[in-house]
Amino acid sequence: MPVTPNQELELLSSIQTGLLIEGAWRPAVSGTTFDVEDPATGKVLLNVADAGPEDGMAALDAAAAAQESWAKVPARERGEILRRAFELVTARADDFALLMTMEMGKPLAEARGEVAYAADFLRWFSEEAVRAFGRYSVAPDGKSRLLVQKKPVGPCLLITPWNFPLAMATRKIAPAVAAGCTMVLKPAKLTPLTAHLFAQVMQEAGLPAGVLNVISSSSAGATTGPLIKDPRLRKLSFTGSTEVGRRLLSDASQTVLRTSMELGGNAPFVVFEDADLDSAVNGAMLAKLRNMGEACTAANRFIVHEAIAEEFARKFAEKMSAMTTARGTEPESKIGPLIDAESRDKVHELVSDAVSNGALALLGGAPADGPGYFYQPTILTGVTEDARILSEEIFGPVAPIVTFSTEDDAVRLANNTEYGLVAYVFTKDLNRGIRMGEKLETGMLGLNSGVVSNAAAPFGGVKQSGLGREGGLEGIEEYLYTQYVGISDPYADQ
Ligand code: NAP
Repeated sequence: MPVTPNQELELLSSIQTGLLIEGAWRPAVSGTTFDVEDPATGKVLLNVADAGPEDGMAALDAAAAAQESWAKVPARERGEILRRAFELVTARADDFALLMTMEMGKPLAEARGEVAYAADFLRWFSEEAVRAFGRYSVAPDGKSRLLVQKKPVGPCLLITPWNFPLAMATRKIAPAVAAGCTMVLKPAKLTPLTAHLFAQVMQEAGLPAGVLNVISSSSAGATTGPLIKDPRLRKLSFTGSTEVGRRLLSDASQTVLRTSMELGGNAPFVVFEDADLDSAVNGAMLAKLRNMGEACTAANRFIVHEAIAEEFARKFAEKMSAMTTARGTEPESKIGPLIDAESRDKVHELVSDAVSNGALALLGGAPADGPGYFYQPTILTGVTEDARILSEEIFGPVAPIVTFSTEDDAVRLANNTEYGLVAYVFTKDLNRGIRMGEKLETGMLGLNSGVVSNAAAPFGGVKQSGLGREGGLEGIEEYLYTQYVGISDPYADQ
């Protein structure tokens, strides 16, 4: 059933537009608001309260005040809040999907996929909450006992990007709740509405006041800067660009603040001559076009064996050319708009640079008709090694293809980047697949698979793609610290 304008208006009217501080939605101290736009139309959807430094500090006050009592809430109870949140998000999947499509642009079917992925973090960490085990052991000399316990790190600042407005929030909030931490969430200014709806759901699920505070803001640095300097803050978890991540790491060093950094990517997608070509093309479609290419995990460089490069490009172009660009609420939409004019222009700049250096646009190569910020699905062949598109994040539906002749060559090309988030390898030779895993400098590898995201897996990168892991058994550890208690020999006075 197509979405009606009334459905959109009704959903928007249910969204809280204030700041969530100490369990209450309230205006910013300055009384100002900022607009949230639909990138498919450029129209304003809502305006939300615009937090400044004073609001940020009030949110940290609330988180710090709630920390002690929240940490004492039994793990089972914290897990049950997350389980209820999982059920509520799942029951309201259509609302979350529509809201994300409206403020971020992705097609509804993809937005539904993100809701399921995001909800999975709530379910996963509802199960992990009761498994934050320590250990008890006898010291090697037999003279003392070692008690190791896990404790919540304390109040956290969580900063999220616009490209996955729900999943990037639940991937941080769920483990923080499970671990017993309180938090301040600063969502991206382009997509705060999904975070607001999610915070409403967390309240409904029974999260006590002050545990989750939300400060949407159009001045991220000024609003969160004082929090990062405040000794009451014990953790910064950031997902966003490497450039901002570097700056935040430097700020965090002043108080030796514990950090997790999920930063940019430049994923190589390597196709060997023995790969099942149809499955490689299907994987390429997912790895490239999911989220219009606006994903840190998006395949950024297609590195294809020279013997099959032409056939791969032809089959890839055939599939890509069937992808319709339209507002994500339209039933035919397969590719929504890019997030804003600046992002669309940057994509075109990278394409133009590659073409002026000798690449050929086998498909697309230009912005698509507006009014939104659409870009044509594009395939570039004959891309030269010095083209900017091979070293910068594209964040658009553009696939540059380069060729290789030997495995060593493929490894050299794939590792030739400052990033190391994810790589994809397609081959029928399992030994080669495992070898590639050993040789590639990457936090994650998709072996004959175009998708790696999974709540049960440790997500994260190496090199300048970040520090720490989200999801999996590792995800909760980011919000726990280890305390060791040395106990004297219990037999000493016998
Ligand atoms: P961004 O510009 O770095 O922004 C990310 C978040 O940081 C936003 O909430 C932003 O607020 C905030 N921010 C910006 N400057 C700040 C400052 N000085 N102090 C504190 N916060 C600040 O990134 P983006 O454009 O939103 O997202 C795209 C990037 O995220 C890409 O590089 C992508 O690869 C990366 N990403 C990585 C992962 C991963 O898991 N590795 C996942 C998704 C995305 P405003 O919205 O107000 O600017």
